[in-house]
Formats: sequence, C-alpha cells, structure tokens
Amino acid sequence: MALPTQADDFPGWYQEVVKQAGLAEPSLARGTMVIKPYGFAIWERIQRAFDDRIKATGHENLYFPLLIPHKLLEREAQHVEGFAPEVAVVTHAGGEELEEPLIIRPTSETIIWATYAKWVQSYRDLPLLYNQWCNVVRWEKRPRLFLRTTEFLWQEGHTAHETADEAVAEARRILLEVYRDAAESVLALPVRVGRKSESERFAGAVETYCMEGLMRDRKALQAGTSHYLGQNFAKAYGVKFLGREGVEAFAEATSWGVSTRLVGGVIMTHGDDRGLRMPPLLAPVQVVIVPIHKSDEERATVTEATRRLVAGLHGVRVKVDDREGFRPGYKYNEWELKGVPIRLEVGPKDVAAGQVMLARRDNGNKMPVPEAGVADVVAKTLEEIQRSLYEQAAEFRDAHTFAPADYAEFKRLLEDPGGFLEAPWCGDRACEDRVKADTKATIRYLPLDPVDPSGNCLICGRPAKELAAWAVAY
Ligand SMILES: [Zn+2]
Repeated sequence: MALPTQADDFPGWYQEVVKQAGLAEPSLARGTMVIKPYGFAIWERIQRAFDDRIKATGHENLYFPLLIPHKLLEREAQHVEGFAPEVAVVTHAGGEELEEPLIIRPTSETIIWATYAKWVQSYRDLPLLYNQWCNVVRWEKRPRLFLRTTEFLWQEGHTAHETADEAVAEARRILLEVYRDAAESVLALPVRVGRKSESERFAGAVETYCMEGLMRDRKALQAGTSHYLGQNFAKAYGVKFLGREGVEAFAEATSWGVSTRLVGGVIMTHGDDRGLRMPPLLAPVQVVIVPIHKSDEERATVTEATRRLVAGLHGVRVKVDDREGFRPGYKYNEWELKGVPIRLEVGPKDVAAGQVMLARRDNGNKMPVPEAGVADVVAKTLEEIQRSLYEQAAEFRDAHTFAPADYAEFKRLLEDPGGFLEAPWCGDRACEDRVKADTKATIRYLPLDPVDPSGNCLICGRPAKELAAWAVAY
C-alpha cells in the first residue's frame, strides 16, 4: 500500500512507515506496543551507541527491580506530585489484596536512592556512577508508537556525588559527551542542547538539561534529558555521608535518560515519502544485495557473483535478499521503505560486464561499479550518506529557526511554517501559559549557559531575563 505523503498527512505517514517497515504495532493493553524484529534491531544499535559512551565516561550498568513499594514514592513531594497521575499501582497479587501496594516503576529514583542510603557512608564511597537499561510504565492517555507508549524501554543513569559542582558537571557531561555525541554522530540527529524552564523541569530536579531535535513536520522532539537533582532525593531517602572534614553531608544527585522514543526521532528526522532513510552507522542492514536471474544457468552465475560480493564486504552489515517468488521491483520497494542505505543489484549482464549496480537510498542515485572496486565504493558511500543525512537535517532545522520581531509574527511563524522560535522572555510562568494557550507551543530549551537576552519579553513587554526557544512539541 502506498504511503501518504509527508506534506498531506504527516501523522498518517508516520503510522504507515512504522507499520509497513515492520518496526512496531499496537498491542492488546491500551498504549502498549510490540516492537518487531526490524524495530528492535534499530533499538539495539541505539543502545550500543549510548551504552558505549556511558561506559567510556566511567559508568557501570546494574539492575533494580520493576516493583517499588508505594510508600517510597511519597517521600519526595515534588516527585510524587509529578508522577502520581501516570503511575500504575499493583494492589492485588497471589490471590489476595496486598497490605502494602506496589507501583510499577515510572522511573527509579525512589528505589535507587532508598538503596544508596545503605551504600553510602563516607566520601570514600562516592561517586556512584550507575546506569540501568530497563522498561518503565507511565499511563499514557494518547499513545503513539515509539513517541508515547504506556510501557517503554530506556536507560536511566543515577549518580551520587560529594559536591554540587561535581553533580552539575556530571549532568552536563552526560548531555554533551554521551547524549549529543551519540545522537549526532551515530543517529545523525542534529540536536540543540540547553536547560528547561521551571515548568518543564523533571519532577524533583533543580535543573533539567535537554537535547531537542526538529522533526520533518517542524515539531520539536525532546530526545533526551539529564537532571541535576541537588540534595532533594538524598534528603528524602537519607543518603548521608561523612565528609573529608569529618562533617556529615547529604549526597548530590543526577539522573538521565533516553528511550525508544529515539526510534521515532530517527523516523521523523530522516524519513521521506518513500519511507525510512537509515543513517549507515545506525542501520541494522547497511547494504542489501538483490540477485536477479531467470534461468538456472543465470542463477548459478549470479549466486557465485553474490558470494564474492559478500566476502568482499567484510565488516559491512550485508543482507542478501534471495527470496523466491518476489520480483526485483517488489524487493527494491521493501528495502527502500526500510531505509537501507545502499542496494546492490546483480544480474547476468552485470556479471558479464564485471560490475554491479549501486543504488543510494538517500538521494536515489544509481550507478554501475566495477566488481573489484565495490568494497571501497561502498565504504565511501556509507560515509557520504551518514554525513549527508546529518547535513540535510541540520539545514532543515536551521532553515526553520526564527527570531520573530513581535508576538504577532511569533504566532504567524509558528502557524506557518513552524519550527524553533527564539525570543526574549521575562522568565514568568504566566507568559509561558499564555503562549501555550494561544499556540500550543512550549519552551523547548534555554541556552545551556544563560546569555544576556537584551530587549523585552516578546509576550508581555517587560525586561527579558532569558532567550527562550519555543516550538510545538511531541
Ligand atoms: Zn513575559
């Protein structure tokens, strides 16, 4: 079935790509999804990109339980207020009502900090630099595959430090050295990094740092967050240590996460009217080879040539599509829909000429390549596609980043064409609320380090305190 075009129906396009490319489908409990093999292969490569960087910056993985005593959640007031509406509670188990209800983790600060209280006695026990890969549940009223699902997969890092400076440096290092680096260099997602306004902060955080991407429909996607939690959780869960001067102090905390939502970000950043376009470093399949033959004799020649090709593409993730009963055109469409960066077509005439046809998914270009030079051309082309997808996305984002002169222009630009709108802001929640009511846009990020906004708040006209970037977001 043909895809709707992005211009006509972006949500419909997204839904059909997820379905037809075999990424995921809705499951039976409301808001849950089945991640299918191709979608899961993409997630595994995302995991690899982030996990490598998490470990390279000195963190270790561990695992905490899914179930958390309900009473633990209640100890940090802001946290419980933020999460209570979306928490699933287990009240019955083993055929009877539980004396103490349990929650299914929406995030694990509570159980982790209750446990850190046992692990931390002295400054010598710090820092704790831990991360876990797991599933979480947040009750979702308007689910969308990968973007908002009741259960999703993610990593959550939870670190404990001696000083506030160390914890702030940790939260920023994760944002820049782990999240932005993985997003930009592997997923080819250009992101803006910054701070959240108070109203958009994580429940219980002192500061929330974020990375935000701009999707092809000119809506923003929060692609990852890293929080400096101060001593809020240490105080709520009693994580105290004896400091260097012999004085007791509360530990300083960070937490940070990226999730399966990134799969949605990749689809909506790089996809076109023909389907997905996978950045080569992320692609589960980098090169698909389609052998073309009619007679048995042709098949023998082409199969032999295909074998030579595969052997020559050492280190490349190659798939040979030798399924019987499908025409080559059908196979081409399917792999284009799945966004495989390079397709190699091998027919009897190509073999006779000592060449293969190479087709690029990113720009549709097709060219013959001498068989002897295939490995070099493929390696070079994969690099080019990786760079080109990043550059296209960055150019698109920059072309949709505006600095409106007044609030009327702000509203007009947000309506058409949409994108990031950078505007001076007084810092008052009332102006955020007004923009949200007028346009649905929210502040996506404030500069990582505050800049002098010079001028007046675009909404109320009072002196500005921040330069805020607004957008309609997922
Ligand atoms: Zn204002």
